[in-house]
Amino acid sequence: MKIVVLDGYTLNPGDITWKGLEALGELTVYDRTGESEILERIGDAEIVFTNKTPLKREAFSALPQIKYVGVLATGYNVVDIAAAKEYGVKVTNIPTYGTASVAQYTFALLLELCHHVWEHSEAVRRGEWNRCPDFCFWNYPLVELAGKTMGIIGFGRIGRSVAQIAQAMGMRVLAYDSYQDKSLESETLRYGELDELLRKSDVISLHCPLFESTKGIINKDSIAKMKDGVMLINTSRGPLIIEEDLARALNSGKVAGAAVDVVSTEPITTDNPLLQAKNCIITPHIAWAPKESRERLMNIAVENLASFLKGEPVNVVNP
Ligand code: NAD
Repeated sequence: MKIVVLDGYTLNPGDITWKGLEALGELTVYDRTGESEILERIGDAEIVFTNKTPLKREAFSALPQIKYVGVLATGYNVVDIAAAKEYGVKVTNIPTYGTASVAQYTFALLLELCHHVWEHSEAVRRGEWNRCPDFCFWNYPLVELAGKTMGIIGFGRIGRSVAQIAQAMGMRVLAYDSYQDKSLESETLRYGELDELLRKSDVISLHCPLFESTKGIINKDSIAKMKDGVMLINTSRGPLIIEEDLARALNSGKVAGAAVDVVSTEPITTDNPLLQAKNCIITPHIAWAPKESRERLMNIAVENLASFLKGEPVNVVNP
């Protein structure tokens, strides 16, 4: 049985193993696949893995031997799951693998906004400390988080993990979610409405999925309700933010700093307004990518296929 991975490079650039999938069939792994190469590369394979390479209706109609598509990510909007179902193709995803990594990365970004660690290290290398008349200097306002309020929009797996770290740092947490588990509330954590969260938070971190209801949730109106000097973190999905509005708020100082791991179009385009905005950290969608997290993802992808082959499919997104 032939297995084709269309775009394996970001999951495994060479530091983890494909052995688990090799044990289940005749495996061919492509680093990346252009849209015009998809049909030819799948060929007569019955099992296809994709991360971000789109599989549209045409692929399923042209290649009716496909039986299974494994998405190597949580989000599966790259696959036309309704068309897959019509052609009898089971599509699976990886529901969770990187909660700890993404929560940790949220704080890597926040702590960088608070301390500008790398830029101070660079300033020392440039000789600024050596020339300094005092025993220390800092080039940016430094911020202590203890006692401040962290507003978390989307209080699921990652949001809750972020809350634990925030509380360990002495922060109070205000959570907003369309589903509320009141048993999680404590002296330092409570749910609130979105408006209250916007008004009261010193730091706002986005952890809700991208839906029509959450698209552009950070826009000029919601920013206007925020505290002056708020800090904003987005490790969820780029289109949650209207980037022009955030860029304007950063440049005016309304938002003191923002750090985003995701942007509206990825890879980022040169005209993205955040590239020119003040006090904005942008990283290339890496919150998920520590090796530990990718290994977990790989193991779940293997288990998903093994379960399908045994006739007991799990993590199916088009049942
Ligand atoms: P999850 O499903 O456990 O949590 C999402 C939460 O958002 C849920 O509690 C849900 O009720 C809530 N929600 C849904 N609609 C909402 C709305 N309209 N308003 C407020 N809350 C709403 O998901 P998770 O594992 O915590 O992941 C969160 C997001 O993180 C994912 O959707 C994904 O976009 C992103 N993510 C990013 C990376 C990265 O590398 N940057 C990696 C993994 C996940």
